[in-house]
Amino acid sequence: MAKSLWMEDAVTLHELFVAGEVRATDIVEHHLERLNARDPVIRAFLHVAAEQARAQAAVQDRWSPAERAERPLSGVPVAIKDNIVTETMPTTAASRILQNFYAPYNATVVDKLYEAGAIVIGKTNLDEFAMGSSTEHSAFYPTRNPWALDRVPGGSSGGSAAAVAAGMVPLALGSDTGGSIRQPSAYCGIIGMKPTYGRVSRYGLIAFASSLDQIGPMARRVRDLRALYDVIAGPDPRDATSLPDTTDATPLSRPWRIGVPREYFGEGLDPEIRHVLDRHLSQLRAEGHEIRDISLPHTRFAIAAYYLIAPAEASSNLSRYDGIRYGFRRESRDLVTLYEATRDEGFGPEVKRRILLGTHALSSGYYDAYYLTAQKVRTLIRRDFDDAFHTVDFVVTPTTPEVAFRLGERSDDPLTMYLGDIYTVTANLAGLPAISLPVGWAHGLPVGVQWLAKPLADHQLLEAAEALEGLLPPVRFPEEVEG
Ligand code: GLN
Repeated sequence: MAKSLWMEDAVTLHELFVAGEVRATDIVEHHLERLNARDPVIRAFLHVAAEQARAQAAVQDRWSPAERAERPLSGVPVAIKDNIVTETMPTTAASRILQNFYAPYNATVVDKLYEAGAIVIGKTNLDEFAMGSSTEHSAFYPTRNPWALDRVPGGSSGGSAAAVAAGMVPLALGSDTGGSIRQPSAYCGIIGMKPTYGRVSRYGLIAFASSLDQIGPMARRVRDLRALYDVIAGPDPRDATSLPDTTDATPLSRPWRIGVPREYFGEGLDPEIRHVLDRHLSQLRAEGHEIRDISLPHTRFAIAAYYLIAPAEASSNLSRYDGIRYGFRRESRDLVTLYEATRDEGFGPEVKRRILLGTHALSSGYYDAYYLTAQKVRTLIRRDFDDAFHTVDFVVTPTTPEVAFRLGERSDDPLTMYLGDIYTVTANLAGLPAISLPVGWAHGLPVGVQWLAKPLADHQLLEAAEALEGLLPPVRFPEEVEG
């Protein structure tokens, strides 16, 4: 296949544009063409902003080389998960309750994208309110995995992952509350990062579980991921949990000390994934890095703690959708019936399940037994990592216990779906930065490796990922494996 513009990585596109070798208009047209060819089947997008993207490109084509160079993402198409609010495009969180909703403002990350010259192509599909691991809980339609159209792309940022993997955009934003950037990145064979909690502003991210939610970048190349990370990260007075700009500047010295937690390689891990991970670890050893067996003993309580804390916070956050202030409303004879009918019709089954679980966990008489206990477990999990990071620089694990599953396979089995989050929820509970890298193939499908670092070591993590890229399989696009 001859190399088209949609196959280029983001930084290369930006450089070609700055050098005047390609027009932003051509970059946008190539990506829209690719999107129009692939998305009718994959369905990664909920909204395509073709006209806005073309208009942005036309403006940028009139910029001088200096103006182009000043903005690190000028000329680069980007997609945005549809739970991040945008003034000029609808924001639905893939929920009926927000169908056709236009926010009166942009999320901080969206403003930052525009300031950096990024060309926004559209909004991507997700599980309703980011609750799920397959994008099947979207109220509108599921997204398909570009590598195997009968399989899920993962979730909840499944639309962003599929769009990047299929070459519709080189960069996308996702959000990660318990793995929603890393798991779909692993399933679709791309790179995704959940930054340290507080590094990226949550202002304008539709809240799911506020103490766990974090926006992060998704890309095919580490250099691109880093460019997007650098644009979106940083303090924001509009987000009270945003951290001051105190990134850990300690340079990363070689060899790296890499911790391999035995709890992440036990029962439930697909032996083929284990094999891919073992090969990765031997390569690291061959590169001279030190591999250490470590223990994170409270890992087995992580899913239980996460599925109490996340629904508890969700039940509170979602109380604002009452049919009065936002989006969908079912008119009824009185106010209480209006609330009930609006929420009954507006929310899908998974969202209702979470609201029920969360309301129960927070109810008087049960609060101590459930919510409080889960918070104590959260502290123990964070301490496990604190202890580990005294002796290692990074922790390496599989991103998921299995490869992408078939569409519909887990729809009636929420518990199995929840258990698949076992390796990703700990980073959210502990607030750590974590990245998933495409490390190989199992059963003909992509496999992800997860690298975790201590809080605020986001740059060390990115530096390591960049150094590791040479050990990873080269970037490919789905058609190249067909036929
Ligand atoms: N799969 C997890 C859940 O369903 C994580 C979702 C997320 O990170 N948004 O809650």
